[in-house]
Amino acid sequence: MLLNELRDYNASLLQTGLFKDYCPNGVQVEGRAEVRRIASGVTASQQVLDAAIAWGADAVLVHHGYFWRSEDAAIAGIKKRRIAELLRHDVSLLAYHLPLDAHPELGNNAQLGKLLGIVEQGRFGEQNIACIGELETTQTLAQFAAWLGGRLQRAPQAIGDNAKNIRRVAWCSGGAQGYFEAAIAQGVDAFISGEASEQSFHLAQESGVAFIAAGHHATERLGIRALGAYLAERFGLEHRFFDQDNPV
Ligand SMILES: [Zn+2]
Repeated sequence: MLLNELRDYNASLLQTGLFKDYCPNGVQVEGRAEVRRIASGVTASQQVLDAAIAWGADAVLVHHGYFWRSEDAAIAGIKKRRIAELLRHDVSLLAYHLPLDAHPELGNNAQLGKLLGIVEQGRFGEQNIACIGELETTQTLAQFAAWLGGRLQRAPQAIGDNAKNIRRVAWCSGGAQGYFEAAIAQGVDAFISGEASEQSFHLAQESGVAFIAAGHHATERLGIRALGAYLAERFGLEHRFFDQDNPV
């Protein structure tokens, strides 16, 4: 298919125009016009680019691309090396950030809920990205954290009373620890995100709501992979997911 068709299809699938984001969503670096092989990865790191290009990818799809609002706009250093490699090989980079967190089926949060066996009951927070739902059976924090660690293949940091019963939970993948207070206001037993902040501990202790930092990378491996697989199936493309293990 043509890169422009892929770009337009994704824009409509993920409704990228509806989101206020910190980075451009869509084609960030334009490569060859025709796309047969798509690689996916969480972050457009050098390692992911090297592996995708060695495999012969025409386009790389990521959740964390470039050109973040807070970063230096200059194309120098690490960013120069990454972009130069894409341009040298005529490979496109397509990035989908908040629209991919939010998508009701392929999104990081929808996929995380599914992986953890949580029945989604609603959404909350900025642009309705965060989810709320219930576990199928009540578990203690210690049981739930152990099970979650197994599902994500990464030991979570669980903050709270290990004996506390967990049934109603809220979750938001990645660096969404700033949503913890909004989650507490939803009356949940626990909030799951990727990363913790210093104040997450105090909020957990004073609210009685458990906080689980399950890994930024670990909670965001799901959406981009699901998107790549979905596009491959829909358009007869080849797809491979390139996972660079990341302890954060
Ligand atoms: Zn993220």
